[in-house]
Amino acid sequence: MKAAQFETPGGPEVLSYKEVRDPEAGPSEVVLRVSLCGVNRIDVWARSGRYKTSLPHIPGTDISGEVVSSGPGVKGTMPGDRVLVYPVLSDGSCVYCRQGRLNLCLSRGFVGVATDGGYAELVKVPAANLIPMGDLDPETAACLPVNFGTAWNGLVGKAGVSRGDTVLVWGAAGGLGHAAVQVAKHLGATVIAVVGDERKSGFVKSLGADSVVVKSVDLAEKVRALTAGLGVSVVFDHVGGDTWSTSLDCLAKGGRMVSLGLTSGAKSEVDVRRVYQDELKLMGVYGQSREDLRAVMELAVSGRLKPAVYRNLPLSSAREAHEIVESREVQGKVLLSP
Ligand SMILES: [Zn+2]
Repeated sequence: MKAAQFETPGGPEVLSYKEVRDPEAGPSEVVLRVSLCGVNRIDVWARSGRYKTSLPHIPGTDISGEVVSSGPGVKGTMPGDRVLVYPVLSDGSCVYCRQGRLNLCLSRGFVGVATDGGYAELVKVPAANLIPMGDLDPETAACLPVNFGTAWNGLVGKAGVSRGDTVLVWGAAGGLGHAAVQVAKHLGATVIAVVGDERKSGFVKSLGADSVVVKSVDLAEKVRALTAGLGVSVVFDHVGGDTWSTSLDCLAKGGRMVSLGLTSGAKSEVDVRRVYQDELKLMGVYGQSREDLRAVMELAVSGRLKPAVYRNLPLSSAREAHEIVESREVQGKVLLSP
């Protein structure tokens, strides 16, 4: 089969499109013919070496496809079944798995990092990770797990956003940010979207954002001006060390911050007095549950969540896809088609 693979970690140029051996399904595994694979930061981190992988390695975590073959012990799955891959790998037996918190599993991994992923014509995944695609189209499906599933986990599962909340979304034009804007609007919240560049304003407004602010040193003042001096009730922060302190400055008393990852440094100085005196809640979010994914799939089928596809590139252009995601020019999702 053809795949986009790297032999040593590095920049986008280490991805090469080549002929590799077809995967074979082992016990409890299936082989899928990949329809589309979403491109995410997690793929970039696998490629760059920030996340450890075996070598050579095929990245790709967000996979829609069709079942080709099943290994021993797989029941209830037929060749031709259209499926979406739930990307969290877990042992099913540790203390967290027994609580149903697979994304906290002691031996947690992700498809496309712990295993070869979807930048390929064929991919091998555990049968337990398949979710029937139903009426969802494969392009929309491949946009959902990492971005929409995680946004749902943060805004619904952790922050409990509802009508009356005002949600500040950092990096609102990117894959995760554009999902968060849509999920927050679906929940009835008012959304203030932060963009790095004025030219992205039109895009985030088209997603439903009520106000757009361009990232600047006086961001917290701008946000307070938009909220009668109070601040927002929820911040959706996936930037990390560079933004945490500003995120807290933007929060109203009793506000909640969800932290879903980082694209900047991992360290930040936090004014602890604000956290306790104003009863702020800081919540970490890592990945998504199967239920989170099912919820966004259902809303995508009915058109209430609509991933915006910025580029759908051939698999041979995996390098270009990574360059686009890393350049921050992206507005919505980048996909690869084998
Ligand atoms: Zn476990």
